[in-house]
Amino acid sequence: MRRTRAGPAAALVLAVIAPAAAAQDPPLGRGAAFGVLELEDMVRVPAGAALRSRPDPQAEAFVLFEAEIEVPVLERRGRWIRTHHRDWTGWVAPGGEPTVEQYELEALAAGYLVVATSAAERAERIAAARRLLGEENADFTTLGGWPLYTDVRDAGALTRLDRLAGRLPAAYEERFALRAGTEPRRAVVLYRSEDAYRRFASEFTDIGELHGDGHADDAMAVLYLGGGGVDPAAVLVHELTHLINRDVFQRPPMTWIEEGMAEDLGLSRIDGKGNLEPGTIGVRETRATTSGGRFVWSQLLRDWRQDRGRLQPLPALLDLSWAEFVSDRYRQSNYAQSAFFVRYLLDGTDPPTRRRFQEFLAAASRGAASGTDALAEALATSPGRLRNGYELWLTRRAAASR
Ligand SMILES: [Zn+2]
Repeated sequence: MRRTRAGPAAALVLAVIAPAAAAQDPPLGRGAAFGVLELEDMVRVPAGAALRSRPDPQAEAFVLFEAEIEVPVLERRGRWIRTHHRDWTGWVAPGGEPTVEQYELEALAAGYLVVATSAAERAERIAAARRLLGEENADFTTLGGWPLYTDVRDAGALTRLDRLAGRLPAAYEERFALRAGTEPRRAVVLYRSEDAYRRFASEFTDIGELHGDGHADDAMAVLYLGGGGVDPAAVLVHELTHLINRDVFQRPPMTWIEEGMAEDLGLSRIDGKGNLEPGTIGVRETRATTSGGRFVWSQLLRDWRQDRGRLQPLPALLDLSWAEFVSDRYRQSNYAQSAFFVRYLLDGTDPPTRRRFQEFLAAASRGAASGTDALAEALATSPGRLRNGYELWLTRRAAASR
């Protein structure tokens, strides 16, 4: 998914400053005659450096300096300077250019990232989320491979979340047999307080009433550390899975897949060091509450035993649009059912079914249909048999959990 460095178009217009020419043409400060030469900031640029149209290692390079040369500084931006040489004005990194990954991290940190589509909208959303951090408290660092903006100062909590985020792409790949990566174009915003998160959510009315404790969109994942009622690690796994999916899937898959994958991983056990154990069921207990995977799972099994009217029948669930999924009266259980239906397909069936389901995910990632009929076809079954198999599995699990 990475964009490549200078393409053929850039090569065509590449000019080379030959050593001899550079030597014969020492840079003269524009103000030399008036004795203000020392006021102009000059910098040495090494041989091999490129002059680019923007301070970006992927921007068009139109001049290559073949020998070391001293050039004036018109403007500074991080490791880049804007300069001119003869007829050319552009950007050069005298100390060496950043890699594309470094560039994107630095650009995000400085708030001038300009990449890919809807960059303006992304930047605006990230900026809005960052404003609620409070200027003096906002730190920029990374979490796994993602840029992180946070006002959290609890080093232990950050270390655990960092480890968790760093290992998530590998866990994702192993679980779903899809190639994942961290994409530094997207960021994570982690608030210390739940209040700040609520204010963020209400500013974005389209998500205000959704996803209680975390948010993910094309630009970022947003969550809060809070006071212990909600496990931020579980929320982080859920939201980062959405970020990974943004890059893995050419277009968004059906909602049961999107939320089912995020919940399948998010409900898993996380050990004290921040290692995720996919396929397990996590538990989070305080003196007053049980939450996390075990709570969601026991709730689902209880509904299955006692009140199936609270659950969306399976074929219908698989064809819900996102708006339907999050707004109908089954909302809560739609997340749980999607998660455990994904679990059923991965862990509750036979190895060939698991493999076919993973192949189905791979096809969906390339843009193939991912509703009921497509799934049934991929698993070489019918929607009716699919439903029966899942319900039988639920019934057995419900009986075992009594
Ligand atoms: Zn979600």
